[in-house]
Amino acid sequence: MSLVPVERLLTPSRAKSYSACPRKHHYAYTLGVRSTSNGSAATRFGTAAHAAIEAYWRERAAGADLAVDDDGHALLWPSVDRALADHFDVLGEEQWVKLRALIELYCASWNERAVEVLAVEREFQMPLLHPRSRKQHPYYWLGGKIDLLVRLEDGRVALIDHKTTSSDPGAGSDYRRRLLLDPQPTIYVAGCETFGHSVDLILYDVLVKPGQERLLATPTEKRKYTKDGKLYASQREHDESADDFDQRIRTAVFGAPSDYFVSFEVPKPAAELNAVQANLWAIASELLRVAELGFARQNAGACFDYGGCEYLPVCTREASIDDARLYVRVGPSPELTEAARTAA
Ligand code: SF4
Repeated sequence: MSLVPVERLLTPSRAKSYSACPRKHHYAYTLGVRSTSNGSAATRFGTAAHAAIEAYWRERAAGADLAVDDDGHALLWPSVDRALADHFDVLGEEQWVKLRALIELYCASWNERAVEVLAVEREFQMPLLHPRSRKQHPYYWLGGKIDLLVRLEDGRVALIDHKTTSSDPGAGSDYRRRLLLDPQPTIYVAGCETFGHSVDLILYDVLVKPGQERLLATPTEKRKYTKDGKLYASQREHDESADDFDQRIRTAVFGAPSDYFVSFEVPKPAAELNAVQANLWAIASELLRVAELGFARQNAGACFDYGGCEYLPVCTREASIDDARLYVRVGPSPELTEAARTAA
């Protein structure tokens, strides 16, 4: 594969960042500066889930045997356990308990299926073509990294995208409609062709974060007692223990698995490729213009989306982008490999 420097790669994440706010794109992809806070709680949860899922599929790809417990239930592979453990501190115990239950459910569901793993976390690059003339863009290429490509039991090749959410991802939901508007799968389908696979369908695997929170002791001043001196049944004397919370989450998740792991197929979006290329071509042209001007405009309408923009303190002039306590220089597209970042 011919690698272009990462500065010249237009990934779906990069296009999304520019579309949301050109100034945000400038900080993240031109300066290559990211927040030291590991993002919002939702981002941290999603990152941890992706790491555990990647570990699972790497074991599947390697053909590793599954160990089982005394009751015959499959155990998590140690690499999956390690991926979870690595995120304990950044998530905190309650979120971690939820994630572990979801990952166990996810792995148990896929353990049942005899699919062939074709690619895990694989990067691709390809020329960005003008939608009508097919001329190659003079500067930008398309790039990205697919989560997973498998051959299903019926022989169809599925591009699998993993998501975590606290929203309802059921049929007809806004969450699902938003996914259907996302250009990323269209680009990734084309990307899979660069390493020789023709995709038949997109499979979304969505993990739904349990909404239950740990139960806390009722504040002393709000406690009410019955005539015989017992605390009202709806009130608590002590915080719920970590073990009890863990058990409650597991009971909820494994008692109604289809509420917490939603998997649905959408057909290969080949017909949209031209429209997506047109959109990306327009973004690529705007990026060149921004570089020429040396100025990226702000979109104040996006500052509070998805839990708040990580560059908000800079735009409100409360902090400097050079403040090493808040920001770190990671280079553009840190999700891509070092090879892609440094290739000439
Ligand atoms: S805070 Fe608002 S204006 Fe500033 S980069 Fe973020 S989205 Fe753009």
